[in-house]
Amino acid sequence: MSIHRASLAIVAGATMLAGAAFAQMPAQQPDAKAFKLGSFDLVALHDAQFVLPNDGKVFGVGHSPEETAEVLKGAGAPTDTVTLSVDALLVKMPERLVLIDTGVGGALQQSLSQAGYKSADVTDVLITHSHSDHVGGLVKDGKLAFPNATIRLSAAEWEFARKNDKLADVVKTVEGHVKTFEPGAEVAPGITSVELPGHTPGHVGYQIASGDEKMLDIGDTAHSSIVSLAKPDWPIGFDTDAPTGEKNRIGTLTTLAQSQELIFAPHFPFPGVGHIQSDGDHFKWDPTLAAGK
Ligand SMILES: [Zn+2]
Repeated sequence: MSIHRASLAIVAGATMLAGAAFAQMPAQQPDAKAFKLGSFDLVALHDAQFVLPNDGKVFGVGHSPEETAEVLKGAGAPTDTVTLSVDALLVKMPERLVLIDTGVGGALQQSLSQAGYKSADVTDVLITHSHSDHVGGLVKDGKLAFPNATIRLSAAEWEFARKNDKLADVVKTVEGHVKTFEPGAEVAPGITSVELPGHTPGHVGYQIASGDEKMLDIGDTAHSSIVSLAKPDWPIGFDTDAPTGEKNRIGTLTTLAQSQELIFAPHFPFPGVGHIQSDGDHFKWDPTLAAGK
């Protein structure tokens, strides 16, 4: 499997991920990476690739692009852009096929078939939050993309989504299939929602546990495996409540570095599976699964 993926240049802005149209999005390359967690079969599914300009509007808000470039350079990455993958996580358990997030409507469906599953097989779609790079794949051609699935999101996030004019069509299509929960609720056998505040009003992660093994899907607690970990205290333009987002980011990363719990990060380089490591006063990404077969 080639690790080369089509890149997409997007003019960044907080509104972009809150429901802008992605009609001009070029074709994105599908990819699927399977792994085990206890007795569950998991698959990281690739949807899209975002390339954001390093202009201080999203990463390094309140800092200069030169400072951000310095961080990117230190990681051997291009200094004029910040690249984010857009991925989703599939969990196969007895009698349930659970999809966590749905991407922007890029290559997710093709990635799902590459993994050997059909969209009609998905029984539950768990949403971390209602930005369009997580809910954009819920609807395809005006219809439910996962026709047999119950769509789960926190009550606060559903409230937030219903007030977002840009999501009106999505809300209308999915509303009869939505079942909300309060953070902390077990939403499927072995999957518990975890409140991770700041990014959006009802943003949650999902902890998946099978046997002795567990893993946390961190949602958008951290976006860039480089900048968000090296400078966790820098505000990010995507957060609705930046101070709370910062507090959650530092707190969650600190806990994960201590516990060494496995994580899935939907915007880290595909497949986004690995551990957070402490590195002095900040953090670094330790991927444990490589892309490709
Ligand atoms: Zn996102």
